[in-house]
Amino acid sequence: MESKMKRDAMKLETLLIHAGQEAESVTGATIPPIHVTTTYTQESPGVHKGYEYSRSANPTRANFEAVLAAAEGGEAAAAFASGLAATNAIFHTMRPGDNVVAFADAYGGTYRLLERVFKHWGLQARYSEDTSPAAFKALMDGKTKLVWIESPTNPMLRVLDIRALADVTHGVGAKLAVDNTFATPVLQRPIELGADYVIHSTTKYIGGHSDVIGGAVIVKKKADMEPVSFYQNAAGGVPGPFDCYLAHRGIKTLSLRMKQHCHNARRVAEHFDGHRELERVIYPSLSSHPDRALAERQMRGFGGIVTFVIKGDRERCFRFCKRVKLFSLAESLGGVESLLNHPAIMTHASIPKEIREKRGITDSLVRLSVGIEDADDLIADLEQALG
Ligand SMILES: *Cc1c(COP(=O)(O)O)cnc(C)c1O
Repeated sequence: MESKMKRDAMKLETLLIHAGQEAESVTGATIPPIHVTTTYTQESPGVHKGYEYSRSANPTRANFEAVLAAAEGGEAAAAFASGLAATNAIFHTMRPGDNVVAFADAYGGTYRLLERVFKHWGLQARYSEDTSPAAFKALMDGKTKLVWIESPTNPMLRVLDIRALADVTHGVGAKLAVDNTFATPVLQRPIELGADYVIHSTTKYIGGHSDVIGGAVIVKKKADMEPVSFYQNAAGGVPGPFDCYLAHRGIKTLSLRMKQHCHNARRVAEHFDGHRELERVIYPSLSSHPDRALAERQMRGFGGIVTFVIKGDRERCFRFCKRVKLFSLAESLGGVESLLNHPAIMTHASIPKEIREKRGITDSLVRLSVGIEDADDLIADLEQALG
């Protein structure tokens, strides 16, 4: 496809359908087959068609990597067996003694990887409790090699200024990595804003159907892919061809799904804002949101995640969690079906209670991953559960 059409000239919606989807050359199959082979027959030693062994490269994975790179506007992409395997690959581009500056409200698994795996390895993590680029800058020094952010964050939905953070990061010669799992390339393209790496848990919106675990790294510059693809092959945390196929099928409808996620989430947030049973509704479109103006400028839609702080104690909150019917009480997010998560007990349990509560993740906070069902049905379900 890239050979026939100029990628730069195509819009995202077109790329999501066509990048990495060239018809198969032997039969003409419009949808490329799933290449389940582990190995590739060579004509003579070392003479092959670019594939030798499926840990190193596999055509189904290569197709998925092509659409990921196109979607994010990067020069290359590498797919991994999970979002954390992709994160791990980026952390491995550093060396013991280096440090990484991250926003404090990071994905729980990223925090756990930094604190319980990479700390012993010799990578120091510094956390900014403040979203401002100046606060990040104050934590940087000559040993800072990476700045790691998510935007919007999970579950407080703070929005960070990617362009401004890229400037301060590059000012000390470090790289900026943006975990774009929540926004997806449909709502936000970090590479255009100056990021060097984009990371995805493709488990979430990209796969979109809650049926496959996966991850990816996309780089702005091809040269930055070299250590990542070396690590991908050397450490071997690769996704299988079936998983790549499923996630690739998912990404084709990403744009349509994101429109509905955003529409429904906004309806839910605006309906429940000021509700008698709620202490607070967090969603970037609300006037109470501290980063509303930045979200409007940086994103093309406010996303599919809404956070509620429920009035009353933990038991009251549990009652709500048990009473929802359409929303499944489950970890994860980004699927077509609506999910409800209690971060303190579920996704963020690996963060010590004191730290968690300081960041606002109390026992009364729930995170909604608003699906693509009918918004009125979702609102009715949440109303009866709060009731
Ligand atoms: C889920 C998630 C991850 C981790 O991805 P896995 O596929 O579960 O390994 C990383 N970052 C964010 C923002 C996530 O939501």
